[in-house]
Amino acid sequence: TSAVEVAKAHLDRIAAIDEKVHAFLHVDTEGALAAARAVDGKRAKGEKLGPLAGVPLALKDIFTTEGVPTTVGSKILEGWIPPYDATLTRKLKDAGIVILGKTNMDEFAMGSSTENSAYGPTGNPWDLTRIPGGSGGGSSAALASFQAPLAIGTDTGGSIRQPAAVTGTVGVKPTYGAVSRYGMVAFSSSLDQGGPCARTVLDAALLHEAIAGHDPLDSTSIDAPVPPVVEAARSGDVRGLRVGVVKEFAGEGYQAGVMERFNDSVEMLRELGAEVVEVSCPSFTYALAAYYLIAPSECSSNLARFDGLRYGLRTGDDGTRSAEEVTSLTREAGFGPEVKRRIMLGTYALSSGYYDAYYGSAQKVRTLITRDFERAFGEVDVLVSPTTPTTAFPIGERADDPMAMYLADLCTIPANLAGNAAMSLPCGLAPEDGLPVGLQIIAPALADDRLYRVGAAVE
Ligand code: GLN
Repeated sequence: TSAVEVAKAHLDRIAAIDEKVHAFLHVDTEGALAAARAVDGKRAKGEKLGPLAGVPLALKDIFTTEGVPTTVGSKILEGWIPPYDATLTRKLKDAGIVILGKTNMDEFAMGSSTENSAYGPTGNPWDLTRIPGGSGGGSSAALASFQAPLAIGTDTGGSIRQPAAVTGTVGVKPTYGAVSRYGMVAFSSSLDQGGPCARTVLDAALLHEAIAGHDPLDSTSIDAPVPPVVEAARSGDVRGLRVGVVKEFAGEGYQAGVMERFNDSVEMLRELGAEVVEVSCPSFTYALAAYYLIAPSECSSNLARFDGLRYGLRTGDDGTRSAEEVTSLTREAGFGPEVKRRIMLGTYALSSGYYDAYYGSAQKVRTLITRDFERAFGEVDVLVSPTTPTTAFPIGERADDPMAMYLADLCTIPANLAGNAAMSLPCGLAPEDGLPVGLQIIAPALADDRLYRVGAAVE
């Protein structure tokens, strides 16, 4: 089959079902077909192409795409056409990957259900009345409904892994700094990390290899070789590997069926020759509280650029109002309630008089969490836990309860705070509701290959 045929098959699938799923905010039919034609042309000329040339992909609408709308799920960027490609977008194109379109997401990647999108929610393909996770619910739903075999997400506090878990797909948050943030709209810069989403561990590894690598345009980009993720995904050998079960990620609030499937995976690892021990990381209990100070603080600073003057939406500019009034009206109209909540929380936490008590304390907790990881990785090679405490919840159930929504990130946030690599992959269905359960694997920074080795073993 030609790349054009493959692209057409996926575009047809999108046309047939995405009205129901709503995974995409924008489908780039012409761009996709042109990219596919280019791959077919090169192949006909006998040019050597990479392993993913001609493979379609769904791109989270947080990465800039030259000439193609980028909204970040927000009204404040509605109609904005970026004049440049993110480094990740460029790398996808260079690999011959066919970008089908841009996927739905919680506004500015703030959320765990995709219900905070200004363009309406996405359904979970397993049950359209349930959430597909968030913030990257569009990408995971596109994979789970076979609208795309590959997708890209971003993970600030779990937005790749939690959607992967609740849709039965694979999602990886690479080591912080492994994938360039240039052209990725900033939410919380010290946590944000783009990464691969796929239906198999090997597909994720191939995509990982295509998007990772040093980028001089991102000052926090790591200048180190990409770990051998593809080789690890092909091996799956876990004999003698030391696996730590995080003791704190169990108990109250964890669905019985989630724990059952998680324990099955741990048993499987033991049978395959891994050495399984229990590990305690006591500071993880405070990770959620620290995250919900650090992430809003950084967001309040990052989102100051959306002032209604430079780009995107402008409201109330009738020639009589001051720039300050226009900015304020634009932000009032352009930002949704969760984004406003975060800006206010962050501004408060950073204000003089409260800075030490809130932001300062949160940074100390962040250090304690990093130390817990260091101690744990002195004893074991990887840590494992359920990705999320529960399976996909119904749309609307937690929409008015931010605390309940934030609990979806309980197990994923520590890896962001410490900058480690982490993966979620399917580990079966919960018996009580028949919905997918995710297994989370966490590896030390720069040891991303271990995720793929363990993932391939239990897949
Ligand atoms: N759900 C978390 C939040 O709302 C994580 C978001 C993310 O990883 N982008 O902040």
